Amino acid sequence: MHILAIHAHPDDIEMLGSGTLALLSGHGHRITIATMTAGDLGSTEHSPEETAQIRMREATAAAALIGASYRCAALPDLGVFNEDSARRRTVELIRSVAPEIIITAAPADYHPDHEATSLLVRDACFAVTIPNYRTGKARVLGAIPHLYFMDPIGGRDREGNKVRPDFAIDVARFMETKRRMLSAHESQRSWVLKQHGIDNYVGSMEAWAAKRGKSAGVEFAEGFRQYTWHPYPRTPLLQELVGDALIPLNS
Ligand SMILES: [Zn+2]
Repeated sequence: MHILAIHAHPDDIEMLGSGTLALLSGHGHRITIATMTAGDLGSTEHSPEETAQIRMREATAAAALIGASYRCAALPDLGVFNEDSARRRTVELIRSVAPEIIITAAPADYHPDHEATSLLVRDACFAVTIPNYRTGKARVLGAIPHLYFMDPIGGRDREGNKVRPDFAIDVARFMETKRRMLSAHESQRSWVLKQHGIDNYVGSMEAWAAKRGKSAGVEFAEGFRQYTWHPYPRTPLLQELVGDALIPLNS
C-alpha cells in the first residue's frame, strides 16, 4: 500500500501522525509525507524564502527517518484556501502519489491553514478520478483513496470543544522515532518558543500523545477519524493495516 500523509505545515504530521506512519513503514508500506506550505513564515531571523528552504530540508530529513519521501505543494503560510487553483494543485499532487490511503488535517483545528488543508484534500479526493478535471501530467486515479483525519492540535477545535476520534493507534513502540522526526525540525524550536510560548517542543508532542494514549487506555496513541460519506470508500483499510495497534473508541 501507498499511504500519503498531507497536512498544512512541516512538523504537523510529526506531531499528530508520525508514530502511525512509522508503524506502517515498518510493515513494508510506502509512505509519502506532504505539506501544503513550506512553513515560510516560521522564523523571526530569516526571510520567507530562506525559511522555506531550511524547513523543506528539515522535513525531508524527518521523512527519511522512516524511509518516506517528502513533497511540498508550495503554497504560502496563511495562504491556504479552498479555491480552484489550490484544489487543482492538490489533485495533481495526489494523482502523482497515487495512494490507497490519505491521512490529512482535521476539519476543525486551531489554524486556518489546517482547516483549509482538510477541505482541500477532502474535495481533491472527490476530483482525482474525474478524467476531464485537468491538473497536469499525473494520471487520473481509478478510485478515491481511503480518507482519514488526524486529531486537531490539542484535540480541540477553534472554540475549544473536544474533537473525538473514531479510533486510536497505539504508538508507544514508535515514540523514539516520533521524537527524532520532530527533532529534525530544528528551526522550529526557537520559533515555537517565541510565537507560542512553548519552551519544550518535543515535550508538548509527548504530552499530547500521552493524553490521547490515556483516553485510549495505552501509554501513547494517535487519534483518527475516517471520512466515509458518499462516494468515499468505507472499508476500514487503515484500521486493518495497523493490526493489534488498533484501539476502537466509542464515539
Ligand atoms: Zn500547522
